[in-house]
Amino acid sequence: MLEIRGLEVVFDGFRAIDGIDLTVDQGELRFLIGPNGAGKTTLIDVITGLTRPAAGSVRFGGTELVGHKEHKIVRLGIGRTFQTSVVFEELSVVENLDLAASFRRPLAALLRQRRGVSDTVRAALETIGLTDLAERPAGVLSHGQRQWLEIGMLIAQGPKLLLLDEPVAGMSKDERERTGELLTEIAKDHTVIVIEHDMEFLRRYASQVTVLHEGTVLVEGDVAAVQADPRVQEVYLGR
Ligand code: ADP
Repeated sequence: MLEIRGLEVVFDGFRAIDGIDLTVDQGELRFLIGPNGAGKTTLIDVITGLTRPAAGSVRFGGTELVGHKEHKIVRLGIGRTFQTSVVFEELSVVENLDLAASFRRPLAALLRQRRGVSDTVRAALETIGLTDLAERPAGVLSHGQRQWLEIGMLIAQGPKLLLLDEPVAGMSKDERERTGELLTEIAKDHTVIVIEHDMEFLRRYASQVTVLHEGTVLVEGDVAAVQADPRVQEVYLGR
């Protein structure tokens, strides 16, 4: 589904990504880890068209993404979260989902939808487990619930590939657990790439892990093998 080859990103002479190859298959739940500055966010910025690489290719389902604008990449079926919130606090949970979903629909569909909640929105609401809070303003949600709403807003846009940047940051233990279950559920019919630092979370929910370090792929494999790798312990776990 996603095939990255020979990727290089240079900022003012600094090589933030220095020759990355990465393949992610359809239906995978892939975790990206690595110390600060490893290039994780830059990699996601390149996939989503925010940053243009100096070299390399990013193919998504056979289509080359490099050179395409962000909105075109969204339309091809790639959605991402940012570390800053995109939730409208004064709108209800369901209105936020509706709004996100409407970005991918013709205006006529918006009119039809006035009569009720669309199937897409209802499904997203159920997936994120916020059905009981559908009519509440998003501003009253807990930190965790707000993160789930953002994931729901992504799902409502109908992407094939989701890129999530530290979805459990700042969450309570219970919220992390719920998020792990949510990611597992979403990965049943989406491909998901998650940037995450929390090792306990990885042990529980990750299968395939890619470790980035100084703009390159240091190690890749299942979570146990990656954790046991001395190179990973040196650059990441031991810090
Ligand atoms: P990570 O997400 O793994 O913490 P980043 O992808 O954010 O790492 O950053 C990788 C490196 O690139 C860092 O050294 C960072 O300072 C640098 N970098 C990221 N974005 C820019 C930018 N827009 N201009 C200059 N340097 C940048």
